[in-house]
Amino acid sequence: MVDVLRAKSMPQAGGGHGELRRARPAAVLWLVYAGAAAVLALWWFDTPSVSGLGDWLTVAGRITGLLAGYAMVVLIALMSRTPPLERGVGTDRLSRWHAMGGRYAVGLTMAHGLLITWGYAVTSHTNIVHQGVVLVLSYPDVLAATVAGLLLLGIGVVSARATRARLRYETWYYLHFYTYLAVALAFSHQFSTGADFINNLPARILWSALYVAVGVLLLWYRILTPIRQALRHRLRVEHVYAEGPRVVSIVMSGRHLEELETEPGQFFRWRFLTRESWWAANPFSLSAPAAPGGLRITVKDLGEHSHQLIYLKPGTKVAAEGPYGAFTAGLRRRRKVLLLGGGVGITPLRTLFETLEGAPGEVLMMYRASRESDVLFRPELDAIAAARGTRVHYLIGARRSGGPNPLSARRLTAAVPDLAERDIYLCGPPGMTAEAIRGLRAAGVRPRQIHHESFEF
Ligand SMILES: Cc1cc2nc3c(=O)[nH]c(=O)nc-3n(C[C@H](O)[C@H](O)[C@H](O)COP(=O)(O)OP(=O)(O)OC[C@H]3O[C@@H](n4cnc5c(N)ncnc54)[C@H](O)[C@@H]3O)c2cc1C
Repeated sequence: MVDVLRAKSMPQAGGGHGELRRARPAAVLWLVYAGAAAVLALWWFDTPSVSGLGDWLTVAGRITGLLAGYAMVVLIALMSRTPPLERGVGTDRLSRWHAMGGRYAVGLTMAHGLLITWGYAVTSHTNIVHQGVVLVLSYPDVLAATVAGLLLLGIGVVSARATRARLRYETWYYLHFYTYLAVALAFSHQFSTGADFINNLPARILWSALYVAVGVLLLWYRILTPIRQALRHRLRVEHVYAEGPRVVSIVMSGRHLEELETEPGQFFRWRFLTRESWWAANPFSLSAPAAPGGLRITVKDLGEHSHQLIYLKPGTKVAAEGPYGAFTAGLRRRRKVLLLGGGVGITPLRTLFETLEGAPGEVLMMYRASRESDVLFRPELDAIAAARGTRVHYLIGARRSGGPNPLSARRLTAAVPDLAERDIYLCGPPGMTAEAIRGLRAAGVRPRQIHHESFEF
């Protein structure tokens, strides 16, 4: 079936010419900062004078509140799965920004509540607890916002690394949906009690437009687009076959797949519509270039959901959301490339190895595996390498065997002497990628040359 996929493989989208729209990460960050500056300007022009401790605290509370409200929309927009963001910034980087921004948003929200209450307490010569009770009981919108703040704090705690590690992925994921409830609950208090909005109609209109725009992105890309794709492409499982120990390849057929404009290196979130697994949408990269009638993924049994996929029956309906991710030819800045994979992280690299343009020797592959039997796609990789006039460097050996580190600068440079002149595409388990980054950096490869896809959000 792989041969069938390959024989019919369609022109690949985004073959390095940047014809698909991609947001540049730096531009996205500047836009976010510019928005924050505009929020501060709103406060600045609305604040004639500040006098006394109570005033200063209240003003600090207003600034943190405005920034928290702004941060919430930005955080949601980052996760809206808007294609130019997904293709240009990439899902894992967006997730990192989201996680980091989430900490600021929770911190700003807590600071906002505390500073405003404290400021009012100082101005009205009462204590902060009494003032807090008065605010919550006198203003229903403030009560709703307080509940929202507590919800956000709870989500922040659940997302902290130590707590998250103890939760099932799905539990953590679905708890996150309470963010939307928190945003809805907090919205009205901004206009009914927010000094920057009460008498400023244009500000209210712009602020609402921001929230509505992000709401529309969410509705469109996270709900309507996946439903439309499922109905249009009618994906079904064709074959499931063993690819290695606890690893299967799943080949799917469907209609109009060229409309997806899938780029080699990208992934989808796959929902297999069986009784056991319809509720989970897990990310898996394509392990072969997309063909007009078929897509292939290769899955390692690493947990409850991936284990069930081994038993999928031909004919099972599939809903695929995507394509997502920026681990594509779009990242390439140099003619010379090294694809460096470990374990099941080879999947997106195998697709890139087949499709990246390059003269013999320009596109090389290194593949790290603990044992010979763990090497996936060996015949396919060797055939692609032969067609490219090169060969794959297999780095085989158990992690803790006590032998020399195959990812040390010396070993990497011995295998690929012009390493420092190459773009590196890296994908593998966290320990292996950390080791590889150390070796690459010691070999003179600069951070901006290393393009890393993480299999963990
Ligand atoms: C961009 C990307 C591409 C990937 N490509 C492949 C691939 O080609 N082949 C392959 O075998 N694996 C791939 N993975 C990893 C794969 O998604 C996880 O191994 C799988 O989802 C584990 O789910 P589980 O229920 O079996 O295990 P669990 O025990 O439930 O989860 C194990 C870990 O997998 C991650 N995970 C679980 N569910 C999700 C989810 N819905 N979204 C994001 N992360 C999740 C979490 O980090 C979790 O801690 C990829 C992951 C990412 C992020």
